[in-house]
Amino acid sequence: MNWMPPGDLPSAVSLTDLWDCHAHLQDAAFKGRLEEVVGRARAAGVARIVVNGTAPDDWPAVAALAQQFSDLVRPAYGVHPLYVDRAHGDWQTDLRRRLETEPAASVGEIGLDRSEAAGAIEPQLEVFEWQVRLAVDLRRPFTIHCRRAWDLMLPRLQALAPFPRGFVLHSFNGGEGRVDPLAALGAYFSFSGTLTWPRNRRSPAALAVVPADRVLCETDSPDLAPWRPDSAEASAPNEPANLLLVVRRIADLRRGTVSEWARRLSANARRCFESL
Ligand SMILES: [Zn+2]
Repeated sequence: MNWMPPGDLPSAVSLTDLWDCHAHLQDAAFKGRLEEVVGRARAAGVARIVVNGTAPDDWPAVAALAQQFSDLVRPAYGVHPLYVDRAHGDWQTDLRRRLETEPAASVGEIGLDRSEAAGAIEPQLEVFEWQVRLAVDLRRPFTIHCRRAWDLMLPRLQALAPFPRGFVLHSFNGGEGRVDPLAALGAYFSFSGTLTWPRNRRSPAALAVVPADRVLCETDSPDLAPWRPDSAEASAPNEPANLLLVVRRIADLRRGTVSEWARRLSANARRCFESL
């Protein structure tokens, strides 16, 4: 199935440097078709994909992707809050060693989750805080997943600050009222396909108050597929080529052009993930 650009986008000529700031290309959903997914991403102007690990057992796959697609993939290593029970043995040494040997790597996906699928919060807090301290120690940005845990997250971050390289709030869902205090701590606010979902009013309201130099975009592939009028494909796994739909939605909501926002989003991502 060929990816088709949304109708009113400028040609890919002006969109060649997009960053998909959060995805999971190591996911089983991409097994055996990675080359075509990567080809479509490149054709859609995606120049970088930050591939986030979720537990020690998928870090080797993330590292392999960063080697195989060294111009495209930026690795992130971390223990996701839903998978803290998969972090055993000396995972801390493994994580530190990976980050020390890969200077372009960031820390992620880490965070707190109190949805029904999640386990107890105490081990999550311990694993999360340890990883934030490691990121600060190694001067790396880190990427946060936070679900139903903002009342815990904000004070924890305030206690752990300052963050010399800032951090990313992936698929930000914290509401407009939390934007200012999080921005003051150095947060980047990454918006995903959920921004395009017609019934989602919370994300557009938050986007409206995020400083322009702190907005990022992502797909969270293979999850969080953007809404399409022809939702026949809604059940297909999301992929980085769909990033343009998120960029266009950001530009529409902020009343700018797609080209202008594409440039701004790229500059923000480079500042976040590449500045030393
Ligand atoms: Zn994720």
